[in-house]
Amino acid sequence: MLNVPSQSFPGSSSQQRVSSGGRSKVPLKQGRSLMDWIRLTKSGKDLTGLKGRLIEVTEEELKKHNKKDDCWICIRGFVYNVSPYMDYHPGGEEELMRGAGSDGTDLFDQVHRWVNYESMLKECLVGRMAVKPAFPKGMLPKSQVTDPLAKEGPSSPSYDWFQTDALVTIVIYTKQKDINLDSVIADHRDDSFRAETVIKDYSYLIHIALSHEIQEDFSVRVVENVGKIEIVLKKKENTSWKCLGHPLENHNSLIPKKDRGLYYRKCQLISKEDVTHDTKLFCLMLPPSTHLQVPTGQHVYFKLTITGTEIVKPYTPVSDSLFSEFKEPVLPNNKYIYFLIKIYPAGLFTPELDHLQIGDYVSVSNPEGSFKISQFQELEDLFLLAAGTGFTPMVKVLSYALTNIPSLRKVKLMFFNKTEDDIIWRSQLEKLAFKDKRFDLEFVLSAPTSEWNGKRGYISPALLSEFLKRSLDTSKVLICICGPMPFTEQGMKLLHDLNFSKDEIHSFTA
Ligand code: FAD
Ligand code: NAP
Repeated sequence: MLNVPSQSFPGSSSQQRVSSGGRSKVPLKQGRSLMDWIRLTKSGKDLTGLKGRLIEVTEEELKKHNKKDDCWICIRGFVYNVSPYMDYHPGGEEELMRGAGSDGTDLFDQVHRWVNYESMLKECLVGRMAVKPAFPKGMLPKSQVTDPLAKEGPSSPSYDWFQTDALVTIVIYTKQKDINLDSVIADHRDDSFRAETVIKDYSYLIHIALSHEIQEDFSVRVVENVGKIEIVLKKKENTSWKCLGHPLENHNSLIPKKDRGLYYRKCQLISKEDVTHDTKLFCLMLPPSTHLQVPTGQHVYFKLTITGTEIVKPYTPVSDSLFSEFKEPVLPNNKYIYFLIKIYPAGLFTPELDHLQIGDYVSVSNPEGSFKISQFQELEDLFLLAAGTGFTPMVKVLSYALTNIPSLRKVKLMFFNKTEDDIIWRSQLEKLAFKDKRFDLEFVLSAPTSEWNGKRGYISPALLSEFLKRSLDTSKVLICICGPMPFTEQGMKLLHDLNFSKDEIHSFTA
């Protein structure tokens, strides 16, 4: 609820803001961008009206501050005076006022739980809520404690450990069959070890201060048919450990994944290559002390500190090319993550990313996203509708489907761009369409030169009804759509009008 990405986007001068033919328009006031907000927070102005004092806020007090020019909101126990932020909030005043004088945590989480509001609103902090449930150190609030009776959730995972002279193995019993190497994200930092296992829509966390030192790198194995994960740590010294260590925050908890905070580790920029005039392929290296594989169709968040404020934006990993699996890997293991990122000269985040030098670091979160590989089951026709960098989730989806789905008959990509120069990986796509007869490709340009012989215009009922032909009347189809928010929303509406069911459509959003 408190950040920008889709709404403050596209740029003010962009065609995307021009309302024509029913296309969406995003109203934005001049001088009210996220950068303008950051400047205001650095101006030394008293934004809370409390002259730097922090107070304890009772529920009664909070309720009183429920007007536009006197609006306090509680987010995760902290109270902010958001009145100065009203004009800068991309969702608009109305959205912010829904939380006025009350606890806005859920509202906030529904929209953008990943936004770093602690940093964005730090100058608006009024204080803490006075009445807060107190949990003795090491204990968890009730909602976070593993609840074996939870009807919807998976049965309680558990863990154990054993050792040899040189190794310590942590074993996680997920009691779930569809577990693989993507399901576990593990990080070793100083003496703490953290392993988050994603089990359906839940997150199970092991979080321990280890009793002895270990080497930086470790390995992860999964015994898929029994849902067992083994994390093998290498001891620094060959001594016998009496215990694994002591529990840290939220250790041994099973909670809905959406309630688990994002965890970041610093990744190093290894290379940066031009792909089009404004889009680059970034290669980041994970630290040796991290195990992380981003599942197909999911994204991560990058975090950078920009003029003293932590800013978070989502990006979708791709492979290094559409033909990676046919090549000898250039880099030795799965420690490298690739991203296709468009640089917006007037944007907040991407110019900073572009200024990073090889060897610099950016913080990268655990993966997120609602796409599930099970959506490919028995799939016969896959249709991909992408606009601009909305192509990024399609890269892995396309490769996965062509390589792993035996039932697949047809994959069709309709790729919307302004001009030919904006088409990402055009020659690779054309080569793939030539090599693999199951793959068809259609480019649609909104601002082509007069020489362009292909399709032109915007997403429309006519384009879609012609493109979305099933290979058989009874074919099982999946349509994936991604691009600027108004493009995706309009596309979804058109797909429903064409009688595709919800299960047949997946839209990529944050
Ligand atoms: P912003 O500051 O957001 O600005 C973008 C444009 O809007 C600029 O031209 C700027 O001038 C204009 N603008 C900003 N604020 C205003 C304002 N108030 N008034 C007028 N104009 C304004 N992008 C990729 O390139 N690759 C990816 O793989 C990728 N994956 C994504 C995955 C998800 C799930 C989502 C939601 C988005 C993804 N994005 C991706 C988009 C990305 O998160 C950023 O939105 C994008 O990089 C722009 O960030 P920015 O801060 O540089 O630009
Ligand atoms: P772009 O180049 O500005 O636009 C690509 C094409 O889409 C252009 O032809 C453009 O036409 C058209 N278009 C834009 N808005 C439209 C609308 N409302 N209706 C119909 N057509 C429209 O795109 P971009 O700068 O690369 O931006 C890509 C977007 O995808 C960003 O918003 C990014 O956040 C999003 N994205 C999302 C994810 C995700 O997983 N959710 C992943 C990656 C990217 P004109 O420009 O000529 O108007």
